[in-house]
Amino acid sequence: MANTEQALGIGIVGATGRMGRALVRAVSEADGCTLAGGVDVPNHPDTGADLGVLAGLGEIGILLFDEADALFGKADVVIDFTVPAVTERYATLARDTGTAYVVGTTGLEASHQQAIEAAASKVPVVQAANFSLGVNLALALTKQAAATLNDDFDVEVVEMHHRHKIDAPSGTALALGQAAADGRGVELDAVSDRGRDGITGERTKGDIGFAVLRGGNVAGDHSVIFAADDERIEITHKATDRMIFARGAVKAALWTRDRQAGLYSMQDVLGF
Ligand code: NAD
Repeated sequence: MANTEQALGIGIVGATGRMGRALVRAVSEADGCTLAGGVDVPNHPDTGADLGVLAGLGEIGILLFDEADALFGKADVVIDFTVPAVTERYATLARDTGTAYVVGTTGLEASHQQAIEAAASKVPVVQAANFSLGVNLALALTKQAAATLNDDFDVEVVEMHHRHKIDAPSGTALALGQAAADGRGVELDAVSDRGRDGITGERTKGDIGFAVLRGGNVAGDHSVIFAADDERIEITHKATDRMIFARGAVKAALWTRDRQAGLYSMQDVLGF
């Protein structure tokens, strides 16, 4: 659908959410694209309001509307940071309308992921648990460190997010755990320890542990700790503004232009 002569039309679903508003700002500051429109949950109280005003930009003349089907029909690419059940529906709409799709929703289960993979058989899809440059570098460093260090180094992933976050561990924490497992050549599911409470017994050698903190307005802190006797390596990323994710998602949206159908990651977009 993308037209190389014109600015890429980017649609946003979940346009009034924390990420949705950041995405409106990121589209408005990027070259080569325009905002094709934005929808949120049907009958949202802000329906008819100017998306620029909702995003803190002032009027841009594009209003929040209610017609997701129409948005997918007119956008070249749609960016989705919503909730898993909705993402499953929008992935199917992307497939049915031939619209490129960028998805950052986390907490997905198998059926949601299947819908994304079905879309990727027809259109370019970029999916990432984290769209920031820094976290994608941290993923690569984590894989390299895990491949270099043996399992005398215990791997623990620690994350902190704002009090409104509804899934845990974060998609990024799980992606960091996956990067460590890939580096070690093991299945994450087989070694993952996602909750310790009470008399847990000693740590199992080779496990990858996860710890979760929630509070305040923290946009996203992640550390991967490799702890051996007498030394410790920590790879840490701290996000102080969710614009880093929004700018990355817009970069991914621009990257889909004239791309073959397929499921791509932010590492593909960044050329890592
Ligand atoms: P949020 O709750 O502020 O926003 C979600 C939005 O989706 C809300 O506006 C909600 O009304 C909307 N929504 C719900 N049902 C809808 C429907 N049927 N149609 C359209 N919109 C609908 O949450 P958030 O902080 O913006 O995060 C959204 C998602 O993005 C979460 O899964 C979060 O973990 C993820 N996230 C990913 C990254 C990344 O880089 N991949 C970064 C930040 C957040």
